Amino acid sequence: MASLHALLNTFTLLLGMLAITLSPVQAFELIPQKLADGVYALIGPTNNRTYENHALNNNLGFVVTRSGVALIDSGASRQGAALIEAAVRSVTDLPIRWVFNIGVQDHRWLGNAYFADQGARIIALQRTVNGQKHYADNHVALLQNVLKDRFEGTTPLTAPAPMRADFAEFELGGMAFQLRWLGDAHYRGDAVLLLPHAGVLFAGDIVFHDRMLGVWPHSPVDAWRDSFRMMEQLPAKIVVPGHGNPGDLAKARHDTGNYLDFLADNVIPAARDWEPLDAVTERLADQPQFHHLQHYDGWHKRNINQTYIQFEGK
Ligand SMILES: [Zn+2]
Repeated sequence: MASLHALLNTFTLLLGMLAITLSPVQAFELIPQKLADGVYALIGPTNNRTYENHALNNNLGFVVTRSGVALIDSGASRQGAALIEAAVRSVTDLPIRWVFNIGVQDHRWLGNAYFADQGARIIALQRTVNGQKHYADNHVALLQNVLKDRFEGTTPLTAPAPMRADFAEFELGGMAFQLRWLGDAHYRGDAVLLLPHAGVLFAGDIVFHDRMLGVWPHSPVDAWRDSFRMMEQLPAKIVVPGHGNPGDLAKARHDTGNYLDFLADNVIPAARDWEPLDAVTERLADQPQFHHLQHYDGWHKRNINQTYIQFEGK
């Protein structure tokens, strides 16, 4: 009897161990979202950079042409770049031959070296590269802190021959790509990539969908608003924002354009007129038209604050 009991106990223990072994391990994965023939977005989570998400809390994309793949941004690290490559591999075996960098922020370009090592050409505007170089040390330090061992082996590599113009057009594998700088935005030097045939615009950090955008000292709100308006003139049917789900220009206006207008029309004049910051913040604190945006509670007042500081007495 005792031995049967022991046997049952062992059996129960084994079952328990099996259950632990079989419990799902949530590895971070990027799943391509098809937007048009050969055009895919990789939509990152809208939370913060974490160790778990490899700091890939932004959107990326890729285009499969007849002679290779063009990637839109390369992620925040070498390991993250390998995850991006795996996502591409779930769609095609063609080599990744080109990597566009459309933004200054860490997770848009710190995976460059991984793809360059495989022979990919890194493509960016000079303005974007200037911004990347300016913030590189800062961004690397931040990521080392978040990604720890997952950042090992990452080397910052900018495009070796960036274009001085603010507009550059490419024909790659039979497809047209237009890289444009529309004016300063979230970062000075952020650009957009338009695929004119598909009507898909990778808008980068000029546009945030579903979540509230963040204003920082490096995000001049008046210029950003103007850049956004320039973007609205482009022939885009689908907008892939820097963060959040793809949508159309109306969604971009609803989630980003209106908020930039709100900040520019309300906070900038108040700051120029020396209205006390406390009074401005209190007066503008509740804006129900933006309650639908994720992070509203944490970010809205801070955005008022940041905008105010940019224009105080100017
Ligand atoms: Zn971003």
